[in-house]
Amino acid sequence: VQKATKHNFGAGPGILPKEVFEEASQAVLNFNNSGLSILEIGHRTKLFQPVMDEAVALAKELMNLDADHEVLFLQGGASTQFYQVPMNLLDEKAVASFTDTGVWATKAIKEAKLFGGVEVVCSSKESNYTYIPKKFDVNPASVYLHLTSNNTIFGTQWQDFTPFYEKNLPLVADMSSDILSRQMDFNKFDLIYAGAQKNIGAAGVTMVVVNKNILGKVSRKLPTMVDYRNHIENGSMLNTPPVFAVYVCMLTLRWLKSKGGVAAIEKENDRKAQLFYDTLDSFPIFKGTTAKEDRSKMNACFVMEDPALEKEFAAICEQEGMVGVKGHRSVGGFRVSMYNALPYESVVALTDVMRNFAISKG
Ligand code: PLP
Repeated sequence: VQKATKHNFGAGPGILPKEVFEEASQAVLNFNNSGLSILEIGHRTKLFQPVMDEAVALAKELMNLDADHEVLFLQGGASTQFYQVPMNLLDEKAVASFTDTGVWATKAIKEAKLFGGVEVVCSSKESNYTYIPKKFDVNPASVYLHLTSNNTIFGTQWQDFTPFYEKNLPLVADMSSDILSRQMDFNKFDLIYAGAQKNIGAAGVTMVVVNKNILGKVSRKLPTMVDYRNHIENGSMLNTPPVFAVYVCMLTLRWLKSKGGVAAIEKENDRKAQLFYDTLDSFPIFKGTTAKEDRSKMNACFVMEDPALEKEFAAICEQEGMVGVKGHRSVGGFRVSMYNALPYESVVALTDVMRNFAISKG
């Protein structure tokens, strides 16, 4: 059986490397020649423990993490982190600061408000989140400052973290849609969370990177499953972990390392984004929806100058085997996701379709 071969520009779950699909499908039948499927092995066994250990070790290595930063594989998606983070870090009388750059940031803000004070320090809501607001002041008493590094729905991305570093506050980042896609100093963040289903692996697991020194400071009682310290103590196996999803993460992280790690994939992502945006900007028939300097290299959003052409363009994409290019309902038009595993050739194929379409419309 061969992996199906469409060009997958879907926003999430996103494309994974071909090698990962092949190895994971083999493991479903016979995991490491154990005579058992990965779907039926016990999590506290000699078969699974090395998988968890390797996934954690690879994440630490690829992100160059120091000894204070722990890597966890948890369940509940990034959406669970919207409340798990404030429950662990934000006391009722304390305040946390949030940057509001899109729908996901808004959801993080809404959940945090259930547990303590929230100050929104900047927002681009008034322009339907078409840009990243770069200048903002923060209440220095904030217990943390939260950002969404890449805005999956609107196609914007923080390019420079200096405004955050300058505030000298514990930094919390939702990196669901651009984690491990570009080099950054991950140690400067005290808590990073990311649903795995875009750049890390399969849906069903969320990676959390946490500086253990920030934990244990809130006065509220925490349910066992909410307290990060319990997950650290139990090596992400406080309860049954999503065994298959963690395995797929391990394979994807192995693949990333074999490609040369984050520095190498960043170059590849730059190459893909450059080809895509150069094509977009060459034909006035297409219109990017965001400020150019804030364009995301992971999710690119655009509309047609003449909206009447959108249906025809969508039909051609489908006919040419391009899937997942329909834009999110809050932006309309099209969204092209170019996660780590998307081959350059897929961007070549899509930009060929765009070019031919634009030329045919004169
Ligand atoms: N944060 C961002 C930036 C996302 O893109 C998404 C999903 O696309 C989420 C959070 C929600 O993730 P999950 O579905 O894992 O809860």
